[in-house]
Amino acid sequence: MSRPLQRFTGSCHCGAVRFAITSDFPELTQCDCSMCRRRSATMVKVHESAFELLAGGEALSEYQFHTRTARHFFCKVCGIYPFHRKRVTPDFYGVNVACLDDFDPTGIPLRQAVGAAMP
Ligand SMILES: [Zn+2]
Repeated sequence: MSRPLQRFTGSCHCGAVRFAITSDFPELTQCDCSMCRRRSATMVKVHESAFELLAGGEALSEYQFHTRTARHFFCKVCGIYPFHRKRVTPDFYGVNVACLDDFDPTGIPLRQAVGAAMP
């Protein structure tokens, strides 16, 4: 099911980090890698050209592990994970859709990504 391109703003819980993305939301993903399994986030993939950091760059903390290619960001103040830089496709962001304002995931396919099986 194809959806129109839509722009959504989003934020962490305390509001220090604010961002916006534009996507037609072809699918959402959950991932079983050691990181995603723990944070249990549902994500959408957007190219960096469709991602805008509106505020809070200084509030972001960065966590890296394993190959240290993916860059996982979280808010230093409230601890929420809003987005990360992806490992296999580093010019893309994975964005936590639960952080988006007024986002309704109804009807968008959910895919299980197999991060745990990546070398
Ligand atoms: Zn925060």
